[in-house]
Amino acid sequence: MSDTLLEVKNVKKYFKLKSGIFSRRRGWVKAVDDVSFSVKKGETFGLVGESGCGKSTVSRVILRLTQANSGQIIFDGEDILKLSNKEMREKRRLMQMVFQKPFESLNPRVTIGDIIGSPFEIHKAASRKEKKRKVQELLAYVGLEPRYINRYPHEFSGGQRQRIGIARAIALRPKLIICDEPISALDVSIQAQILNLLKDMQKDFGLSYIFISHNLSVVKYMSNRIAVMYMGKIVEIASKEELYKNNKHPYTKALLSAIPIPDIDIKKERILLKGDLPSPINPPEGCRFRTRCEYAMRICAQSYPALMDVGNNHFVACHLYHEAIKSG
Ligand code: SF4
Repeated sequence: MSDTLLEVKNVKKYFKLKSGIFSRRRGWVKAVDDVSFSVKKGETFGLVGESGCGKSTVSRVILRLTQANSGQIIFDGEDILKLSNKEMREKRRLMQMVFQKPFESLNPRVTIGDIIGSPFEIHKAASRKEKKRKVQELLAYVGLEPRYINRYPHEFSGGQRQRIGIARAIALRPKLIICDEPISALDVSIQAQILNLLKDMQKDFGLSYIFISHNLSVVKYMSNRIAVMYMGKIVEIASKEELYKNNKHPYTKALLSAIPIPDIDIKKERILLKGDLPSPINPPEGCRFRTRCEYAMRICAQSYPALMDVGNNHFVACHLYHEAIKSG
């Protein structure tokens, strides 16, 4: 039996750019451009990159909250891009999301009992009495008092609201949870508690996670494998150990050089990227990183380097490695 839960194959998501009174198409924003990766059962797959690199769009495309232009998304053995809306609603029982801003994702006029219990109603998965019992069990599991069931979201702190969002996400025992910057809106003092709750859930329920963050220390703590994105493309994928010790892509090197080391005796040289992030409307031809890359060669402007296997399940999209292999 395959140990792969999710396969994203050559997925593209372009947004039309319109202008003028007739809303003429002016171009495309290539938010996700030919992205492929897979997630194993019980694995945490990290997605990192600067804001606007396309990592959140990838998650929305996987959940079909926005429609991909092309590609395949095989989840639990089925291409979900081919499912009808009704079939997709059923599939969503198994795919959930934990959001960055818990307050915005919780309806302020609804009690937390109804918020956490809503998946049972939508999917007709429990009677009213069972729903109450299950919600109380979920509250206890995520570290909240079951007697709070009739309270409203504004009566809770940021960390507690995130626990409510997490309780809702695991209500129907999903197989995959996409965590989109789940702690970046929380106080530092409670971030570790939420990360540890996510880790405990993974052990208890055998969950797979896609963990999206711009915080590389957090991604390192959470993930088994990590993909680095730049302007809608994956530029490097490797295991956590390989990526942090033996990173190859010049963009990954620059990103990782910015992580602070908690030891004043260790001096680390930070790689400062030159230039601004190019416009996604008109990205550079060839390698999209070439306008900021100190190793850029002529070929980098001529063709986009495909992701290639450099050994040890480590993939990198950079002509430096293509050229090195060609020259033996
Ligand atoms: Fe730099 Fe060229 Fe590699 Fe792109 S392909 S990262 S421009 S060396």
